[in-house]
Amino acid sequence: MSKPSKTKTVYRVESADGKLGLWRDADGTWNPKFHLLKDGKCRNMPMEDCAIYRKGGKRWFASAPSKELLRAWFSLSDLRDLEKHGFCIYEFEVSQWCRVSDAEVIFPRDAVAARRQLSIVAIYPESDLIQWPVAKYWDKAWNPVIGCRKCSPACKNCYAEAMMERFGYLDEDGFPSFRPCETKQKRPPRSGVVFVGNMTDLFGEWLDEEPWTPPNKPIPSPVSTFISATLDGMRRCFAGATGPTYLWLTKRVQRMCKALHECRVEVGRAWWNLDDFMRTPRSMGCFDNQYWGFTAENQEWYDRRKWDWRGGAPSWAKGWLSAEPLLGPIDPGLRYIAPEDQPFEWVVVGCESGPHRRPCKLEWVERIVDECLSIGVPVFVKQLDLDGSCERDISKFPKHLRIRQVPWAEKGGPA
Ligand code: SF4
Repeated sequence: MSKPSKTKTVYRVESADGKLGLWRDADGTWNPKFHLLKDGKCRNMPMEDCAIYRKGGKRWFASAPSKELLRAWFSLSDLRDLEKHGFCIYEFEVSQWCRVSDAEVIFPRDAVAARRQLSIVAIYPESDLIQWPVAKYWDKAWNPVIGCRKCSPACKNCYAEAMMERFGYLDEDGFPSFRPCETKQKRPPRSGVVFVGNMTDLFGEWLDEEPWTPPNKPIPSPVSTFISATLDGMRRCFAGATGPTYLWLTKRVQRMCKALHECRVEVGRAWWNLDDFMRTPRSMGCFDNQYWGFTAENQEWYDRRKWDWRGGAPSWAKGWLSAEPLLGPIDPGLRYIAPEDQPFEWVVVGCESGPHRRPCKLEWVERIVDECLSIGVPVFVKQLDLDGSCERDISKFPKHLRIRQVPWAEKGGPA
């Protein structure tokens, strides 16, 4: 039988000479130097300035007891920032230590048996950053309606319009048509990651022309027939262990929020207002597999739609942001929002694609990615404008942007 080890492995970020380190203090707050560092105004603060590390008359050093806890201390973008400032991640073998809290161990320097430098990938393995192997993050599309009306700069080179033109949709006069019309796709797919309405905007104003009276019950819904019936159908699509994930996406956020609050759903033999129903125990698990997203192409449209979402979305609805096509810089401002109030469970970012694509600067993408990583929101870099062309092959991305995270549990991507 092997002898039990007398050393402990701990993890810590410090300068190569070991004189400067960063940690969370025992009360959970950051060593103040960290914030200065992030703002680019680094002032060295010797570790011994902190009283707890002078315990016992020795110099004690803060460390995380595991890689997982080091990740809780430092987001990926923190580590990248720190690397630029000459800090490294080290794994220590220590023969003497003291546990300050569940998340923090301190040790005296003269108890260090070994110190080994780790790469960022050892803390954030590629499997955590590239959870989805290809640029297309959905594997099925469901379009109960096709056609749309343009409503913001992102629509200029609309993919749906190009597809309808290509497949020869004509109006009554024989001209190419992009006019919304219902399709024969009445039921959503029951497996995979399903994009709901990639050939339309299912919350388009044209679907608001008549109030809905549910069959058999004279309770008119303030939301249109079509949207109410669609949401009522989707409510029945529980995820289960291997069930589908549905991704909704709109540019009409106010109308999506209105529908989520006001449409009526049939539960048992009664008709409920959806938002009221979602606040009852009977709704448990309902819509857990559905993500309600909006597109934002620049700061102006991000601000408008984000406020519409934050002001109007019911608390049970999981939001996501599609910053694609990204046509200008966006400061998402998520770092100012408390974790429990974060509006997005997921963020997708990418340049425009197609023949008339508009440029997208890498720094615009970096800004969004950094913010997501620093607050722990999964982020998916779909495609990048590299040397003037739209690049989807992640192996050609700059290393720091090779990230395709997804919020749903099932990892791996389409077969
Ligand atoms: S909202 Fe979407 S589908 Fe509709 S015109 Fe704009 S880009 Fe096209």
